[in-house]
Amino acid sequence: MAKQPPLPLSPTRWPVEKQRLAFFSTVEKIDVREFDRCQFGLCRLWLQLFRFSRGQGAEGMERVPISAKSSPELVRQQNSSLVLSALRRHGRMAHTQISDATGLASATISAITADLERAGVIERSESLSVAGRGRPRVLFSQRRDYGYLALLVIASDNIEYSLVDYAGTLLDRFVEPRGAGGPEAFLTQVSVALRRLLTRSRIGHEQLLLVSVSSKGLVDPQRPVLVWSPVFGAQSVDFSRAMEPGWRVLLNNETLLVAGALMDCEEKRLATEVAPFRASERRLAALSLGHSIGLGIARASVSGITEILAPNFGHMLHAADGGLCRCGARGCVEAYAGFYAILRSAFEVPADTVPAKFVPIAEVDKLAVRARRGGRQAVRAFRQAGLALGNGLSRLISLHGPMPVFITGLGSRYYDLLDAGLRDGLAESHVVRLGGMPQLTVVADEPSLVFEGHLSCAFAVVDQGIVDLAG
Ligand SMILES: [Zn+2]
Repeated sequence: MAKQPPLPLSPTRWPVEKQRLAFFSTVEKIDVREFDRCQFGLCRLWLQLFRFSRGQGAEGMERVPISAKSSPELVRQQNSSLVLSALRRHGRMAHTQISDATGLASATISAITADLERAGVIERSESLSVAGRGRPRVLFSQRRDYGYLALLVIASDNIEYSLVDYAGTLLDRFVEPRGAGGPEAFLTQVSVALRRLLTRSRIGHEQLLLVSVSSKGLVDPQRPVLVWSPVFGAQSVDFSRAMEPGWRVLLNNETLLVAGALMDCEEKRLATEVAPFRASERRLAALSLGHSIGLGIARASVSGITEILAPNFGHMLHAADGGLCRCGARGCVEAYAGFYAILRSAFEVPADTVPAKFVPIAEVDKLAVRARRGGRQAVRAFRQAGLALGNGLSRLISLHGPMPVFITGLGSRYYDLLDAGLRDGLAESHVVRLGGMPQLTVVADEPSLVFEGHLSCAFAVVDQGIVDLAG
């Protein structure tokens, strides 16, 4: 498990590389003007490619600066990206549908789909018309066995491993409890489990296109390194050390992925509106409640470029000289709103008691039952948590402007107990008194959002790698 240097795409990694290198030969003669006609599509493409550009760590993911490429080459790659991106968003599509979605000319699409098909990236299937008469329609879609992705969702108590094919179909999933020990033992466990994930589905190691990892905590923006995490604290975890030679790994903060998935939903909803007039920047926040407190912010500009951030909200100061936090500081939002903090407050344990690394959810459930029955200390503990979250959100809105807040995570099941305190905490700020309470929505199914966020981010990187390889 030696440390691997950042790897460029290599022939051992991409067994059909020669095919792929040739696959854009027929797209050379595209008129640059065609590119100008699909600015909207291009913006959506950048949305796909760069929206995760902050708050993520990646290994070997550097891109060639745009200015370093010639125009025909750039246009060729961008048009191919548009086609791959459209297929990713809409699933199986006919030629005319791809043209409508991308704004590209029919001849261009024919050339691109032919080359992608020849390279084994996409495949065609036939669909009978609804009336059952006439010629069957030809539909294009990703070829499922082009390659595979491993998705790792790291929680305080376990790790979930999923295997998906190139079309995004979930093939296998298992969950393992986290073992004892420090980062080295943890990385060994990850490495063994990754091999098991592939072996169970009889997938060759060279067929793994990307390993996408998410965790709570702080992520290095340049490398797949967890800089701070609830379990290991400041002991950093370099995920590239758990990879085999040739494997690429991408690391994201978990709530960042949630914010990305929520923005995707918002984009789809807006796309169905009759007149999707977008006069202003769109923003949203995802607030994840649980053992730790996570926040993701997604901001989409009018031009379509989306930026997603995962600021260190849980460890933002709530009360000077306040309760001791797991990070070692005092008075963090998490030291009032994390599960351990709610229990500490309810049982009147001194606020300088070293917090537990992990609290069984059953204990918080029991406390919630007591609070719903009117138990005074339990009610007060949840209210205090709500106030800390509300104060934190008021600062967020004061700095970033009004935005809807989606509340998710295990702790969202206690939202009925947090709501009043959270609103009171928000209402104390000038910006909320002037502009009104932000829209607060509970989205209980956080695992689905994390999964969608993984797919969206990982495939944007993989598809861009395919296009870059051909350039
Ligand atoms: Zn803290």
